[in-house]
Amino acid sequence: MTKAKGYAAITPASELAPWNFERREVGPHDVQFDINYCGVCHSDLHQIRNDWFPGIFPMVPGHEIVGHVVRVGNAVTRFKVGDLAAVGCLVDSCRTCDNCKDGLEQYCTRGPVGTYNARGKDGLPTYGGYSNTIVTHEDFVLHVSDKLSLPAVAPLLCAGITTYSPLRHWKVGKGHKLAVLGLGGLGHMAVKFGVAFGAEVTVLSTSPAKERDARALGAHNFVVTTEAAQARTVKGYFDFIIDTVSAPHDFKFYMSLLRTNGTLILVGLPSTPIELPPFSVVNARRSLAGSSIGGIKETQEMLDYCAANNIVSDIEIIDIKNINEAYARMLKGDVRYRFVIDMKSL
Ligand code: NAP
Ligand code: ZN
Ligand code: ZN
Repeated sequence: MTKAKGYAAITPASELAPWNFERREVGPHDVQFDINYCGVCHSDLHQIRNDWFPGIFPMVPGHEIVGHVVRVGNAVTRFKVGDLAAVGCLVDSCRTCDNCKDGLEQYCTRGPVGTYNARGKDGLPTYGGYSNTIVTHEDFVLHVSDKLSLPAVAPLLCAGITTYSPLRHWKVGKGHKLAVLGLGGLGHMAVKFGVAFGAEVTVLSTSPAKERDARALGAHNFVVTTEAAQARTVKGYFDFIIDTVSAPHDFKFYMSLLRTNGTLILVGLPSTPIELPPFSVVNARRSLAGSSIGGIKETQEMLDYCAANNIVSDIEIIDIKNINEAYARMLKGDVRYRFVIDMKSL
């Protein structure tokens, strides 16, 4: 086995604390890389708190992982020692279902294997990127350009692909009015991609203090949703809303901001069910849609697009010992706009 150290939640109630564990030996198709940086996603917090389903504990979160390759199995062809490498939210899938064959491993009908809080095909728990090293099948390891700042690339592996993929799927671009609901980790990447793809972008936020940042990110408009008079000005206005909110919120109200035929694309994952009067969808032929991360091929495409267009995340680098404090700030919406752990601090 490969010795590893990291930070784990030992139980759903506990704060993250140092923890030693083992990863599998490097197999013929595996790549091992030492982790330089790992982004902090709101999904990490949802999962250590059992917001969605009972998790596997101890849990080492983290699925925005970048580093340098230190070992490769003898059948590995796409990586060599010293290369930059990244792992996102997936480390395996069945590879044989229609979705896997179409490069949609995130929708694998037998269930994809998450980077943490999941079980690999060997039945053992997977452990994420809040750690010093990781061993992954090369098919699920991504290439990273050395043209971009490495810590600022890390969040692309989840926040980036989760917003890039639906915007591409629904072909959001020139002539579209796009609203980004919630300006956090996912939201700020949605603004960057929406602007890059040519849409008119409006940020819908509960935080008036984020207006300057939103405009600096390229947003054309900013609406404070808690101010009724402002919010009314965009009723029936948007072709698309990408909803990145992590907490329960008023879906009926946000649907009313869509024009006829508009689509609300849900990527945020609050722990409570959606309440929505049928008329709020039916009356204007609106759609409520959802999207989960992205497949491996599309994640590589997104990383290459970012390298070609100089797109990275806006980050605040933290020491791993400050992770619990970062979670507390994340819960208050006080993230500008992604925490990234510098693994040298481990
Ligand atoms: P984040 O950085 O914490 O951002 C969430 C933002 O939502 C906050 O900054 C805040 O923005 C807004 N918000 C928070 N509470 C709110 C409330 N009560 N009402 C209205 N707005 C509120 O989180 P993230 O990492 O971007 O993740 C966002 C959500 O997406 C999480 O639920 C996460 O689990 C989920 N997620 C889904 C996928 C997927 O594949 N679908 C992938 C990754 C993450 P303002 O201050 O601007 O209001
Ligand atoms: Zn994530
Ligand atoms: Zn599959």
